[in-house]
Amino acid sequence: MNQCKNDSAKKYSWTGEDSIEQYESTKAKFSDIDRAELHVHMNGSIPLSTIQDIFADESTELPAGFLIERDILRYKPCQSLSSYLTPWQVLRLFPKKRENLNLLSLAVFESLSQNNVRFVELRSSVLYLASLQNCAPAPAHALERLLESSRSASSRFGIRTGLILTVTRGDYSSVALSTLLQAYQDLGQPSDVVGLDLAGDEEITYPAELPSLFRKAKDRFGLGITIHAGETGRVDNVRTAVELFGADRIGHGTAASKAPQLLDFLAKKDICIEVCPISNRLTGAVLKNEAHPLLAFQRHGVPFVICSDNPAIHQRGLADDHMAAMNEGLSARDIYEQFDVAKRYSFIEGLD
Ligand SMILES: [Zn+2]
Repeated sequence: MNQCKNDSAKKYSWTGEDSIEQYESTKAKFSDIDRAELHVHMNGSIPLSTIQDIFADESTELPAGFLIERDILRYKPCQSLSSYLTPWQVLRLFPKKRENLNLLSLAVFESLSQNNVRFVELRSSVLYLASLQNCAPAPAHALERLLESSRSASSRFGIRTGLILTVTRGDYSSVALSTLLQAYQDLGQPSDVVGLDLAGDEEITYPAELPSLFRKAKDRFGLGITIHAGETGRVDNVRTAVELFGADRIGHGTAASKAPQLLDFLAKKDICIEVCPISNRLTGAVLKNEAHPLLAFQRHGVPFVICSDNPAIHQRGLADDHMAAMNEGLSARDIYEQFDVAKRYSFIEGLD
């Protein structure tokens, strides 16, 4: 076994008892299937080498004690969601230059292409780009640059793309959402902006008016709504996401498995859960001694799509998440059906 394989075996050791050879051989059987990605964060998808190149080019100072090679990757389960999120201290410090935005977009789409991704809904907070790139008039200009950059990279790799605008939980989330929606309107409501997302630590509160702002945006612009909810054990957040925010899909939703009535509610409402199996183990959303809830979702008839969340941070790709989902109990047939399930619940229109 060469050094590279030793490293891989270490990375995969938590996923099950299979040897790395068994793992790679099973993965190879699915090497030619079409895949779709409905839950992936753009700045969690930038390959490490691209991050290093951009940091060197932009001479960006890192936070004290932060080592990119050591602190930006996540291989092993973290103590908490907030410790899993530590890399974002650095992931929002770049790109300052427009050409580096283009560079990272190409790298992100190349990785998606290597995983046979045919369509993707990419998430970005956008606003941090405006402050980094001194866009004027920000932030519509930042959104325009991001759209241009991802359009160009996605057409190069032949991947249909929609952008989901992400707002992070906290005191300023309503302001951030209003700012993003104004930028979206300033650009004439581009059709490749397809949805809105609420992300971040679920222990952090948000302004009371935030849910109605999401619902109004859905009604007025026809944007899809997806909410990170039930990732850190808060069952109530899942119901709130649907009833108050108007969520069409739920990010993670692992806590819902603890409430059978809630699962029945999700099934009845046809709410799709974005299941990110590797991320769920690394964040501690699903603990080592627990079964992953995806089989409970299946038993209750709750639709779900397998997604990768932050594949570059995990040093893996969507193909590995499909493998992890099988390791958690999905059948090969379930994996083959994933592409059609993703088409059904995607916010991108006109997928054939
Ligand atoms: Zn996420």
